Amino acid sequence: MHEFKNFINGEFVTTASGKTFENRNPVDNSLLGLVHEAGQPEVDAAVKAAKAAMQGPWGKMTQAQRIALLDKVANRINERFDEFLDAECKDTGKPHKIASHIDIPRGAANFKAFSETLANHPTEAFKLDTPDGRGALNYGHRTPKGVIAVISPWNLPLLLMTWKVGPALACGNTVVVKPSEETPATATLLGEVMNECGVPKGVYNVVHGFGPDSAGAYLTEHPGVNAITFTGETRTGEIIMRAASVGLRNISLECGGKNPGIVFADCDMDKAIEGTMRSAFVNCGQVCLGTERVYVERPIFDEFVQRLKEGVEKLKLGVPEDPEVDFGPLVSQEHKEKVLSYYRLAVEEGATVVTGGGVPEMGDALNAGAWVEPTIWTGLPDDARVVREEVFGPCCHIRPFDTEEEVIELANDTKYGLSAAIWTENSARASRVAEAMEVGICWVNSWFLRDLRTAFGGAKESGIGREGGVHGLEFYTELKNVCIKL
Ligand code: NAD
Repeated sequence: MHEFKNFINGEFVTTASGKTFENRNPVDNSLLGLVHEAGQPEVDAAVKAAKAAMQGPWGKMTQAQRIALLDKVANRINERFDEFLDAECKDTGKPHKIASHIDIPRGAANFKAFSETLANHPTEAFKLDTPDGRGALNYGHRTPKGVIAVISPWNLPLLLMTWKVGPALACGNTVVVKPSEETPATATLLGEVMNECGVPKGVYNVVHGFGPDSAGAYLTEHPGVNAITFTGETRTGEIIMRAASVGLRNISLECGGKNPGIVFADCDMDKAIEGTMRSAFVNCGQVCLGTERVYVERPIFDEFVQRLKEGVEKLKLGVPEDPEVDFGPLVSQEHKEKVLSYYRLAVEEGATVVTGGGVPEMGDALNAGAWVEPTIWTGLPDDARVVREEVFGPCCHIRPFDTEEEVIELANDTKYGLSAAIWTENSARASRVAEAMEVGICWVNSWFLRDLRTAFGGAKESGIGREGGVHGLEFYTELKNVCIKL
């Protein structure tokens, strides 16, 4: 039986309590292994190790040495690509075709992307005039924050975790990671890579477990943690924010969304269909930036719905290893129940089911897996729960609109504010509408096109703060002003 152990101070460890929980493969519900659930003693040990590492060789390294080490980590992930791929796809059920293009390469790239920002970002400097005529020199000096708690979700496990660990370490911090209980594998494997690359012990630690009364809560409430970066649901973000308020610890929250796609009649229809197909259905719809509300200008509404339906009905469902497969199961049985409850609710709320809406027949070997059909609805009222709440599944609701003003109002009529995608060939309109969107990230004629130097984060209830490029620098370092009287 495979065991997923905690990684503390450079060693893989079980737990004092002996508590474990099961990790299952969502493709067929088979048991992948047992995960050792960290209790308070293990979280204490991880935080202590992370704190001690700040005083050890890691804390004394130059920026260039740290960057070189992280470069090695990125290269080693790429050398062990197939192992990471296999681990990620078993945990999540996602097709190799997707994880080999997105999850694993980005997981490695996250250890390199920040280095250039760090190396090239100037610190501020001001010369101050003083009455004695000799002046004073002010300059900004950045120091690491210390021990960063990283709480990550299950939808893009390695990618989203390293998106935080990469910059945190590049800035000289140490980390304690609490990966999602659904996806413990790649964070654990990364522990091996850290040791292989000679990253000093205690710099990267992993504690496994759940949120409340488990590793997540113990870690975020731990007074030894200096800052918390979290990606996950908005409700969890609120709990973590409360925990962080004790001791005034800094937080970065990347939370949920109910993202609009806006398709104008002057769009390039092929691009809009292709982009919406991806934004609503890739990764089985489990992408925070995904489009769950699509607004289509009335003259092209029927054609758009028909073409999206045809696209969805061509998606090939199947096991991750099959290179032809576009679409895997949801991450877990629990999430399947949640998504199916929204499928039922949509019908109760008066939706027309354009396609899908149920559970596909996958055959005896796979029927126990967390499969659901990709689904399109039309006809729901704007106040329907399915239009307002994040489903986080492979589904979208499509609604017609008549004017630019109307669609801006509809798109912004949500408590969330993560992302939006606009499809139009009119660039003046594109920038006008993009500027009116109450979101952190807005794509025009594309979706999920990421430049890692740009700000990433959400408005409204989709989060607090921005990560990426220089914005990460703000969170992962403490900026001190040094004033020298000349
Ligand atoms: P979740 O909030 O349930 O869990 C995320 C992490 O928080 C997990 O590791 C979990 O164990 C931990 N956690 C849960 N309760 C906790 C507590 N009380 N204290 C400390 N830790 C706790 O989210 P999920 O279901 O894993 O992920 C899906 C959600 O994440 C969706 O809402 C999605 O939109 C969001 N998400 C956002 C982004 C973004 O960048 N904005 C990216 C991916 C996913």
